[in-house]
Amino acid sequence: MRNRRLAPNHVLVFDALKKAGRPVTAYQLIDAVRGAGISAPPTVYRALNRLISDGLVHKLESTNAFVACAQPHTGGSVAVFTICDTCGNASEFTDETVSEQLAKRALERGFALDKAVVELHGTCATCANSPAQTG
Ligand SMILES: [Zn+2]
Ligand SMILES: [Zn+2]
Repeated sequence: MRNRRLAPNHVLVFDALKKAGRPVTAYQLIDAVRGAGISAPPTVYRALNRLISDGLVHKLESTNAFVACAQPHTGGSVAVFTICDTCGNASEFTDETVSEQLAKRALERGFALDKAVVELHGTCATCANSPAQTG
């Protein structure tokens, strides 16, 4: 965690993301913070960019959604997400072996790794164990 202070707007957006507890789109986030006095989408986008660069929030490119980071990424560990295609829930974990291998491969190619997010798609345990819902 860095020591740069977050502006009130950033805190509001971050709190809304944490409260959601699941990936949300920018539009859903804009809706969520409207009641708190942020009505301009650019404000929300700016806050998201800042939170992402601070490592507090991840963007899931495959679903175009944002999610609060579950734990700090010490030593550049890669954020791995399991994303359920049925309910949309995502959970984050880190894996030292995966992180080291990816960092090593990037280095071998002279690639300066900035951030890494691995997105795994499938079915979560809850959805896999529940009978199909109709309506
Ligand atoms: Zn994270
Ligand atoms: Zn699910």
